[in-house]
Amino acid sequence: MSANTQDLQAIKYSSVIENLLASFADSSARIQKWLAQFDIENTNEPYIQEHEYLLKEIKENNRYLLDEQSEAVLATMKTTGSSAWAKYKDQLISSLKIEIDGKKYPLTEVLNMAYSPDADVRKKAYEAEVNGYGSIELGVASALNAIKGEALTVAQMRGYNSVLQRTLIDSRMQQKTLDVLLKTMKKSLPMFQKYYRLKAKALGHQNGLPWYDMYAPVVETGSDYPYDKGCDFVVEQFHSFSNDLGDYAKKAIDSHWIDVYPRENKVGGAFCSNLHCLKESRFLLNYGNQFGDVITMAHELGHGFHGYCLNQEYALNADYPMPIAETASTFCETIVKKAALKNASKNDQLFILENELCDCAQVIVDIYSRFLFESRVIEKRKEGPLSVDEIKEIMVEAQKEAYGDGLDQNYLHPYMWTWKPHYYEADYAFYNFPYAFGLLLAKGLYGLYQKEGKSFAKKYEHFLSLTGKMSLEDVGKSVGIDLQDEAFWQNSIDMISEDIDLFEQLLA
Ligand SMILES: [Zn+2]
Repeated sequence: MSANTQDLQAIKYSSVIENLLASFADSSARIQKWLAQFDIENTNEPYIQEHEYLLKEIKENNRYLLDEQSEAVLATMKTTGSSAWAKYKDQLISSLKIEIDGKKYPLTEVLNMAYSPDADVRKKAYEAEVNGYGSIELGVASALNAIKGEALTVAQMRGYNSVLQRTLIDSRMQQKTLDVLLKTMKKSLPMFQKYYRLKAKALGHQNGLPWYDMYAPVVETGSDYPYDKGCDFVVEQFHSFSNDLGDYAKKAIDSHWIDVYPRENKVGGAFCSNLHCLKESRFLLNYGNQFGDVITMAHELGHGFHGYCLNQEYALNADYPMPIAETASTFCETIVKKAALKNASKNDQLFILENELCDCAQVIVDIYSRFLFESRVIEKRKEGPLSVDEIKEIMVEAQKEAYGDGLDQNYLHPYMWTWKPHYYEADYAFYNFPYAFGLLLAKGLYGLYQKEGKSFAKKYEHFLSLTGKMSLEDVGKSVGIDLQDEAFWQNSIDMISEDIDLFEQLLA
């Protein structure tokens, strides 16, 4: 379906599978309840021991499971409840047309204008976008209210203390780990605000960066990266880390596991799908000969390598929780970016660094604002549905707290909740902090690699192989990382701080 959204057979079988999965809810509940009765601790069965974490988790989470019939009802009602609302929201967003200078554009095209080298295009696109939501805001707000309402109801029915607690349990992560992460993020905000002011100044703004220039290019780059050149670069840099990583990338490329170029009826974006059953991966890119496309390729191959490291694990131990999902990909991005920086001209260095900092700032600052926003929306939703104005106000307040004087306060974005898909998944709320977790953990791992050199590669592979059968805290411990130690997270922030200093020098 991703390779060809019009493939009728694929569409048909996809819906067959979707219905089959929903029909598993009661059997799945029955199996989990049955498993929970056993004493796993006192067994000598190696097969059971190998699945100890998973079985204990099932036992532990059994208290949040309803009876089989209720589970079946919940799963079925979800298809006409939160899932239907999310689809409705997607329809509103994908059919929205935004008018600029008398011409109508789909939202995705308008959002892309934020990257335009033309300042006028960026500003016009932002203003038209913010004004354009009026026709759909009520529908999108209804979807948000319904989905957050369902998340609250289900969390309460299942006996969770809060919606956030459910996400943390599903993430195999302790509250304390999140608290330390958020605390470090909050402490780093002034540093990122400084970056935004530097960028604002470079673009000729006096009162901080207006929202519409957040993704504006600071310099142009002449460097072109055709696919073959991109592949060679990635494979070479991966080899500099380890032969396993380099060989893996080469195999993926040579075996044509990658669907490379954009095509009619092919979905946008990029992803990697690890097929544990085949011990292979498949990749989808929309390669466009830019440096960013090389980074995306490295990112997706990083996901693939994560899957490769899990190949020798049992299938049930090969599924890892959300917060660790972006670690391997970000780690591989870092390898390639650092190498590219080393060999680049001053102009290209500035270009690469700006891209990197723009991404990091999003993942720390915007994610922090999204966490604040979602916490407050869920809290207020307990009293009843929120109005469009209330939602907008909460969003702007969250942005002010996160971006501070880094952004021009007259140009914030009250509608950032509309098209982001992350707010619209009832069974996985707070789909935001995992990004910050992944970025800072990847930076921390890269720091260890810099310190230890080549010998770190084997530890890294081992670390990835454990991600499906331990708590995140224990996975961290396997490479000597204490995820509840502020100093660990701060060290990753300091690495970004060094990049901001270099960015300042290059700008000067
Ligand atoms: Zn990814």
